[in-house]
Amino acid sequence: MTYARENIEQMHGYTPGEQPLGDHVIKLNTNENPWPPSPQVMAALRDISAETLRRYPSPSAAHFLAQAAALHQLTPEQLVASNGGDELLRLALTTFVTPGAPIAVTEPTYSLYPVLAAIHDSPVMSAELDAAWDLPVDFAERMNAAAVALTLLVNPHAPSGRLLSASQISTLASTLNGVLLVDEAYVDFVDPGHDVVSLIHKHDNLLILRTLSKGYSLAGLRLGYGIGSTSLLAPIKEKTRDSYNVDAIAERLGAAALADQDSARQTWHAVRAERERLTKALRERGFHVIDSQTNFCLAWVPAEARITAGELYAGLKERDILVRHFATPRLSDAIRISIGTPAQTDGLLANLDELLA
Ligand SMILES: *Cc1c(COP(=O)(O)O)cnc(C)c1O
Repeated sequence: MTYARENIEQMHGYTPGEQPLGDHVIKLNTNENPWPPSPQVMAALRDISAETLRRYPSPSAAHFLAQAAALHQLTPEQLVASNGGDELLRLALTTFVTPGAPIAVTEPTYSLYPVLAAIHDSPVMSAELDAAWDLPVDFAERMNAAAVALTLLVNPHAPSGRLLSASQISTLASTLNGVLLVDEAYVDFVDPGHDVVSLIHKHDNLLILRTLSKGYSLAGLRLGYGIGSTSLLAPIKEKTRDSYNVDAIAERLGAAALADQDSARQTWHAVRAERERLTKALRERGFHVIDSQTNFCLAWVPAEARITAGELYAGLKERDILVRHFATPRLSDAIRISIGTPAQTDGLLANLDELLA
């Protein structure tokens, strides 16, 4: 006997990357920032009082939103806080998509999107990226023809690491009839100069997702936020959000993290430098590597290697090095490697050399 809804019965849940216990593993599989959070975050954690825990938190995470508003030169009405970026994705479906109506994604994309659509009982219109991992030129027209109310686009893209420019995003937002959610989970690692946030003044259907999980080294905290026009965000803020969706600890620590931009920027800089080194080192070993604007690299195992990507993943795992392998059509010959510290990169490369020999 099952009590679950029919679509829940039929669907498959999200498969998270492995989270091993213990510190002996070189963990390059879930795109965490390899550097610790700001010392000011740790100081804010020590300052959490019993009184803070006794009381309900601010319903809107007001302290955090004020900090985010200052950072982005926006008002708190143009921001909404969420329990990780993932909650914002779910809220976007709840708020903008009639159950049963389609949402749009690219193929491949972040594997959580189709799972959220299945929970919502919404079909997924998926547009295959072209050979260069670019959007098909008629993407927006196709989605409009299918009456799509919400398009989920990860930029920079996962798992390729490629970046659409702000002007490409702007064109998409003007062409799409529905809401365009640009998932900027990895935007902190993009080379400086890329800015999509200012487009919310021009496009009232543009919703930008940010998270503190990656750029601010706080995946364990569960804090993200959305950026959009006041009119777009109002129904989420006033109606669909849980009453206290961000807890008091996340609110305080998140504000401290955003306040210490210097510390976060140092980690982004270090990740970019290491991304460049890893890309070069993998190419020297015959891997095909896409230029990445994120904190991971997608690398195709050299054709002449006598080992498949799946075997390479398993061999690394046996040696306590975790990377990600997707057994899906376009990705099955590649491994995705999160950018680690220089010592972790060294460990990875030494073991790759042994496995490829
Ligand atoms: C990490 C990630 C998120 C959000 O993660 P949270 O930890 O829930 O904030 C959203 N989209 C993509 C593509 C991600 O990789």
